[in-house]
Amino acid sequence: MKIVVASNNKNKIKEFKKIFEDTNFELVSLNEIGYMNDIDEYGVTFEENALIKARTIALELDVIAIADDSGLEVEALNKEPGVYSARYAGLHKSDEDNNKKLIHNMKGITNRKARYVCAICLCKPNGEYIITEDYCDGYIIDEPKGNGGFGYDPYFLVPEFNKTMAEITLEEKNTISHRAKALEKLKVKYETIINSK
Ligand code: IMP
Repeated sequence: MKIVVASNNKNKIKEFKKIFEDTNFELVSLNEIGYMNDIDEYGVTFEENALIKARTIALELDVIAIADDSGLEVEALNKEPGVYSARYAGLHKSDEDNNKKLIHNMKGITNRKARYVCAICLCKPNGEYIITEDYCDGYIIDEPKGNGGFGYDPYFLVPEFNKTMAEITLEEKNTISHRAKALEKLKVKYETIINSK
């Protein structure tokens, strides 16, 4: 059975596909099915945005859709950048610009605690949906380390590995990441909703 992942972020799709590789579901991205419209993420919480994205695709294309909304919450910055993580430095800015702004805002701050948050929504064509959310705790460091991952990963130190998220492998990331944990929770619940009429 096909599930459309309502995202075009290559890294996220890779993480999703890896986690679903032991199931009967074939995950396809929006690019793969030729969907080119932008979905307006007007929600103010991760859960709202995940629902907006999944519901838009499920209803418009008459498919089962999964969407995630994720971001970084920094304790000392009142949970900034939060749902605005992708556009922290402004619309159409790069990961590098976002990281620069983050490190600038962290100057002189000793509380480096942060967490990644991920909400995932699975929505059926009839509008029925489930949402899960999970977290990954870590610390913000001043100098980037590692070339893997994406977004804030080179500045996000994972205590379990004493390495940044950009220094660990995808397999390692999938044992602790916010997205992997939220997806695992979803996998526990999805068969009930998929099989219900
Ligand atoms: P979304 O595509 O609207 O969910 O935005 C997610 C944004 O949050 C990304 O552009 C990154 O800036 C950040 N983010 C979410 N998950 C991760 C992660 O696993 N690593 C690094 N940055 C992440």
